[in-house]
Amino acid sequence: MKIGVIGGGQLGRMLALAGTPLGMQFVFLDPASDACAAALGSHICADYNDYDHLQQLAQQVDLVTFEFENVPADTVAFLSQLVPVYPGAEALRIARDRLLEKTLFRQLGIPVAPFADIHSQADLEEAAKTLGLPAVLKTRTLGYDGKGQRVLRQPEDLQGAFAALGSVPCILETFVPFSGEVSLVAVRGRDGETRAYPLVHNTHTDGILRLSIASSDHPLQAQAEDYVNRVLEHLDYVGVLAFEFFEIDGGLKANEIAPRVHNSGHWTIEGAECSQFENHLRAITGLPLGDTRKVGESAMINFIGEVPDASAVLAEQSCHLHHYNKAFKAGRKVGHATLRCDSMDQLQQTLQRMQQIV
Ligand code: AMP
Repeated sequence: MKIGVIGGGQLGRMLALAGTPLGMQFVFLDPASDACAAALGSHICADYNDYDHLQQLAQQVDLVTFEFENVPADTVAFLSQLVPVYPGAEALRIARDRLLEKTLFRQLGIPVAPFADIHSQADLEEAAKTLGLPAVLKTRTLGYDGKGQRVLRQPEDLQGAFAALGSVPCILETFVPFSGEVSLVAVRGRDGETRAYPLVHNTHTDGILRLSIASSDHPLQAQAEDYVNRVLEHLDYVGVLAFEFFEIDGGLKANEIAPRVHNSGHWTIEGAECSQFENHLRAITGLPLGDTRKVGESAMINFIGEVPDASAVLAEQSCHLHHYNKAFKAGRKVGHATLRCDSMDQLQQTLQRMQQIV
């Protein structure tokens, strides 16, 4: 089975690392000549709207998937005419646009912070009066890792805020004074079967995920699974989807969905019976889904900007190093480590020692 992947970053690389033992082969389409997934398959170096190369990709593969959702809608439509595409065009259309995404949550009865559609500075000032401050202004599309957003705390912060984000369509949402952030990674097969991993506690700094810790018997697990199932069913989704939530007042408020394998699910490579990467591939190729149960207690630490010395990381016996072989650059995700321990105490102690290295 040959899988085409739109995007050739670390997510594509880890998909190929999971699919190769299943006999799968990979072709990545990515405009970057140094795409780090290219080492694990063949690489079509082209823009996401280069139709000649998209056609070439479709001719070489049995189906296409995505490691990156910010792909033009026309690209997805074009590919869908030539080859099966999972997840489908509608899921990508919604997940790529914060306004459509939050509107869908509301329609499906999933709690979400109040928000408004913003097309101008005047819209922003009007919405700030209705929603109040603090609030967060976010571009509707192309935002990631905290990029394309600004927290507005006082009336003066409104000045020039719309222009500062590029005068593109935005949403304004109220600031959620959350007690924590959690995500649920779930998978839905072609036959509609769904499975979810345990909820993960996430810590972000400057909008970038730094640390994920897989939970045990989280009291909001069933609630989160109910919300994610509503989305999966509505979109007739196939593949892995991640749902990020704010924890507040003992409940959940939806933040966003990612229609792909997700950074907060990397721990599943060593920490679950079947990883999110293998499960995504199983789902899109119509294979039986794998067991999402945890094996021990796991945490994932992201390496941002650079990967620490391998011998220091691997001196920790419970540590598994993932080096993406990407050029080091401030603010860039270049690797991660998964710690897998027998108990939560041991995991916390290992995490403390790891803080000295990172
Ligand atoms: P996002 O790109 O929407 O996931 O935002 C990145 C991070 O910014 C989130 O993980 C939160 O830590 C923070 N953030 C985003 N939206 C809000 C909000 N409405 N209230 C409080 N914090 C937020």
